[in-house]
Amino acid sequence: MRSEPLSYISSENNGPWEIYLEQVERVTPYLGKLAYWVEDLKRPKRILIVDIPIRMDDGSVAHFEGYRVHHNTFRGPAKGGVRYHPDVTLSEVMALAAWMTIKNAAVGVPYGGGKGGIRVDPRKLSTGEIERLTRRYTSEIGILIGPNKDIPAPDVGTAEREMAWMMDTYSMNIGHTTPGVVTGKPVQVGGSLGRRDATGRGVFVAAAVAAEKLGMNLEGARVAIQGFGNVGNAAARIFHDHKARIVAVSDVTGAIYNEAGIDPYDLTQHVQSTGGVRGYPKAEPIPAMDVLTVPCEFLIPAALEKQITEANAWKVQCKVVVEGANGPTTPAADDILAERGILVVPDVVANAGGVTVSYFEWVQDFNSYFWTEAEINQRLEQIMRNALEAVWQVHEERKVSLRTATYIVAATRVLESRALLGLYP
Ligand code: NAD
Repeated sequence: MRSEPLSYISSENNGPWEIYLEQVERVTPYLGKLAYWVEDLKRPKRILIVDIPIRMDDGSVAHFEGYRVHHNTFRGPAKGGVRYHPDVTLSEVMALAAWMTIKNAAVGVPYGGGKGGIRVDPRKLSTGEIERLTRRYTSEIGILIGPNKDIPAPDVGTAEREMAWMMDTYSMNIGHTTPGVVTGKPVQVGGSLGRRDATGRGVFVAAAVAAEKLGMNLEGARVAIQGFGNVGNAAARIFHDHKARIVAVSDVTGAIYNEAGIDPYDLTQHVQSTGGVRGYPKAEPIPAMDVLTVPCEFLIPAALEKQITEANAWKVQCKVVVEGANGPTTPAADDILAERGILVVPDVVANAGGVTVSYFEWVQDFNSYFWTEAEINQRLEQIMRNALEAVWQVHEERKVSLRTATYIVAATRVLESRALLGLYP
């Protein structure tokens, strides 16, 4: 099959998109006849880049750059979060959108992959400025989003509050209240019980399955967590509730360590009152990146991409890495960890709990009928366990990493859809 390289991004910057392409290269030999269609995975379906001018509190006008990428929609509408971070780039949003395609297929929710983002440091904006930014961005990407087209959700730097503004802006623009246009919104306006902790809960289920497979005990197991936001915080609480020991935590303000264990509920109060984990009195400060290399059973990267690299993979001292973040481990680091006998439960299945409960939220919004939190958590665990079992089977049968196994399962589903749908026209 002939295809030209994409002209709109550099192919040499070793960014998240190149990491994703390398992961696709690794799975291609296992796809059999479906490899004929693999180019579909290497190209986003469509990309929208928007200018977002907003009025700042001091009366000036500032412009921000925003993106919305649809990587693939064979299996259903595009679905994926919106990131507010100063380092957001097109390459990053493309990779995040592609990982959503793989993830949604891996857990079997009927979505394609999408992602959005704004190059902005939200910590430098007032609440009013963030609201205007969110509303203008939503209007600008309004030509792409909708409950049957593309359903955004929270990611780094966004949460329930931004989802409520996005829902309201979209609803105002089309003239009627449309809860199903976003997920991860507040329960009072059509959000789902259990969504807030869903990604962290899914990370915990992934760790629990890994522990069962390896014959490890979760009780008393040491856990190190990079990132204490939506994913890291929920994961910390759920591990703690199951009697695991949180020995190290980091966020953008710094890292802390306590061999005897850190109470994540108490740490959350400290973060709420001071703005970060730094200065937490019941633990020792450690250098920020040491959170990845402290001795532990479970290491949970839950911040950003490219944290475990060739430079530090040989120092990692855990038994299992469970990727809460998207893209935290580079392919070269994957190989080093594998050589050292460290198991990696990859992002594309380990952090799929969020999109799974987002799917439940979307279904509930369509039906205007809402489930109990117990039902949601039970269905979440079931979907996560089924997906992990399918991946583990391929991992054992084909003697490949869990990441390649997840890509085999997911890419097969995506490309089978392509083969069935045919090529238009
Ligand atoms: P968040 O904004 O709620 O939290 C991010 C956390 O990472 C914060 O505690 C921040 O201080 C910390 N952080 C940022 N830079 C850091 C650095 N250099 N070192 C250490 N910590 C740093 O974001 P989130 O929603 O928790 O997302 C975290 C990761 O999980 C991202 O990779 C995201 O794509 C992924 N993810 C999120 C969801 C979700 O439902 N929110 C679902 C799947 C995957």
